[in-house]
Amino acid sequence: GEVAVETDVVVIGGGPGGYAAAIRLGQLGKSVVLIEKGELGGVCLNRGCIPSKALIHAAGEYHKLAGLSKLGIELPAGDASFHMPKWQSWKESVVSQLSQGVDQLCQANGVTLVKGVATFLSSDRIGVETGGDFETYKFRHAIIATGSRPYIPPFLEPDHEYLLDSTDALKLQVIPHTLAIVGGGYIGMELGMAFAKLGSKVTVIEAADRILPQTASHLTAEVLKQARKLGMTVKSGTLVESANVSGGQVELEIRSPQNGHERLCTDKALITIGRVPHTADLGLAQANVSVSERGYIPVDNTCRTSHPHIFAIGDVTPGPALAHRASKQGIVAAEVIAGLPSSVDSPYVPYVIFTEPQIAGVGMTKEEAQQQGYQVKVASFPYRANGKALAIDAKEGFAEVIVDEKSHLLLGMHVVGGDASNLIAEGTLALEMAARVEDVVLTMHPHPTLSEVWVEAAEAALGHAIHIV
Ligand code: FAD
Repeated sequence: GEVAVETDVVVIGGGPGGYAAAIRLGQLGKSVVLIEKGELGGVCLNRGCIPSKALIHAAGEYHKLAGLSKLGIELPAGDASFHMPKWQSWKESVVSQLSQGVDQLCQANGVTLVKGVATFLSSDRIGVETGGDFETYKFRHAIIATGSRPYIPPFLEPDHEYLLDSTDALKLQVIPHTLAIVGGGYIGMELGMAFAKLGSKVTVIEAADRILPQTASHLTAEVLKQARKLGMTVKSGTLVESANVSGGQVELEIRSPQNGHERLCTDKALITIGRVPHTADLGLAQANVSVSERGYIPVDNTCRTSHPHIFAIGDVTPGPALAHRASKQGIVAAEVIAGLPSSVDSPYVPYVIFTEPQIAGVGMTKEEAQQQGYQVKVASFPYRANGKALAIDAKEGFAEVIVDEKSHLLLGMHVVGGDASNLIAEGTLALEMAARVEDVVLTMHPHPTLSEVWVEAAEAALGHAIHIV
């Protein structure tokens, strides 16, 4: 056969999992080939985390203008407008700056980048289709980091103009007058709220009995309240049965036990009902790598698959599909391949939802802790009792600590409210270090900051918060 290029490691997929793994391998002196069929940075950088947060930020800034008057800021009437094409080019500049950065980092660490579609030929060879050419690489270790794509049922196949997936939604040049969000999970709610702030009349259709069904309901209740304030309609317990595009509109047939059959006409419909792992065409059988029925690659806490020399990381592995989990797994897999002791502690994967207000958390919920047999103490502290929250006009929300009553060990920390996404870093460090609730109380938190909600919630768990009774 053809001559194979030899390398210590091949990494398949250049998303936040794959590129982090490749860079770490380079740092550890391994020869690495990183194979990417599309753009470096994967979903996260090109059509996920970064562009969605760029939209959410712009929509938030725009929406805030309406509330400035009470702060004493008067804008000339009718002056504010949002120019979507201008936002698109700003977003493109953010994305390209970051992807160039990833490219430079890979090069600086000696990573060989190969553009093409990879398929395993055996458990030590991989073929790459590079636009006409076919190359073969012989490896000692491989890391599968091929990520995921939107799950689309056949009757909701996007035409990318009226029926959209999240990638299409982030490329819109015009704000839709009416927008249906099919699927009220985090991606649907984040994008739905952003478009509502930009002026779309948004209807969310969710099959479960509430939005954000994976997240504790006392946290998501705050988001539902804000969704209503933004004029969004939420239809939970509702299934979409069909979608038809005609006359420049989408007609959705929906059904629910409470309202029976209904018809919903909308300018655009965004389908965000889940994601599926990219594992079908990878030749995993030739490589002797096991795959679950739903297409996920089971791994141990070092990210090793059923084949001892092949690792898998990120959205192709079972667990939350989050960029920071992918990167952490990538670093762990790289270190294990290089012979270092390393592992992933999955209980400490934080989650963040960039809705209004934001939700973030780490560790167990009250129910999970109870199921594990802990004697659980839950204490919370409201934003409205935090001086900074009032001073920045962000009084909605609360922080909550889940504590083992016997040992005072922190089992979980959750927060809904302004800047929750940044606040959760402290919770993640606390849980990672096996902090007790006293450790948070002993830590001096700067004033005035939102971070003080943690010290007060921790004090409340011990029965002596200063600013609430
Ligand atoms: P991916 O980022 O999916 O990258 C996989 C790469 O592999 C792709 O570039 C693909 O082209 C390549 N590839 C696939 N098959 C092959 C092949 N056979 N050969 C060569 N290359 C191949 N996560 C967060 O943590 N925070 C957020 O705020 C957040 N927001 C999101 C918003 C949206 C709209 C979406 C869609 C996702 C969001 N995510 C967020 C999820 C996040 O994007 C993913 O968890 C993350 O990108 C997974 O990283 P990965 O490395 O596993 O795979």
